[in-house]
Amino acid sequence: EAKAAGKACFAVFDHTLHSKAKLRLQIENGLRQAIELNELFLAYQPIISLETGRLSGVEALLRWVHPELGNINPDKFISIAEETGMIVPIGRWVIDEACRQFADWKHSQSVATRPLCVHVNVSRKQLLSSDFAWTVEQSLARHAVPPECLHLEVTESVIMDDPAFMITVLNNLKQLGVKIDIDDFGTGYSSLSCLHEFPIDVLKIDRAFVANIGRVYNFAALLQAILALADNLNLQVVAEGIEDADQLALLQALGCEYGQGYFFAKPMPADEIAGFAASRRKTTVNEYDVLPGGL
Ligand code: C2E
Ligand code: MG
Ligand code: MG
Ligand code: MG
Repeated sequence: EAKAAGKACFAVFDHTLHSKAKLRLQIENGLRQAIELNELFLAYQPIISLETGRLSGVEALLRWVHPELGNINPDKFISIAEETGMIVPIGRWVIDEACRQFADWKHSQSVATRPLCVHVNVSRKQLLSSDFAWTVEQSLARHAVPPECLHLEVTESVIMDDPAFMITVLNNLKQLGVKIDIDDFGTGYSSLSCLHEFPIDVLKIDRAFVANIGRVYNFAALLQAILALADNLNLQVVAEGIEDADQLALLQALGCEYGQGYFFAKPMPADEIAGFAASRRKTTVNEYDVLPGGL
């Protein structure tokens, strides 16, 4: 009986392994054609000024509509795209499409109903590919996007991997006039000491961090320290993953300038951004003025 159970167990394991491998292969093969087959699109998540409550910018987030698997989120395929190198052409498409869309908003919307900048995520392999800066420059020129309206988001772990080299790479990009954001910041505290050496403009505080500020006293204290440091280094700060009014109120009380998260809006199709921006114009800051006690 033990043998039978063992066998059954193995069969289940084998089945899972098989379907996992199959899924991976399906994703890997599908990715190769995703651009040509027009299966990729960008969703845009609003970034809000916590001072005015209005739309400031948007972050472009990649989506893939697979013919059989349906809508696939990045955590299912970005790592595969990175491993296979497919992230390089895909990332090039992302930047060009974000620039095209930004130019479209600029032409079709008033300043009141459009984002003032667009943020895109960039992987390590993209940064390391020798023509990356050139392709960014091409996209900016093709769509006549002012370089300072494009933010390139790189994660803290990517720049900390080889700091000296990354400083060179980022300096090269900065010469185009684009902005550099550190994404998912605050989970690797080691970086605080050498932050000033990087040519960066924005810190995006990781959502795991934001999730804890109301619960763990130390997180609020740390956030306060990060905000003071950012102020000193002339960096702007975006808090990611704001999910409720208490988190928002705390961030505002600490003087955090920008925020993004489901509390404001989930990533949405490009054509919903203007309506969202208009709805934010009707909002006043006072709407958020309910501060929880005890900070
Ligand atoms: P990220 O750059 O840190 O993007 C923020 C992620 O958090 C997005 O997930 C967004 O939908 C999600 N999010 C925003 N607000 C909230 C919230 O209040 N609560 C929660 N629980 N989540 C929130 P998404 O779109 O699934 O993207 C995941 C990650 O995939 C991104 O993290 C980014 O690292 C990567 N990614 C997305 N698009 C691209 C791309 O075009 N290129 C590259 N290289 N990576 C990308
Ligand atoms: Mg990001
Ligand atoms: Mg992030
Ligand atoms: Mg992330």
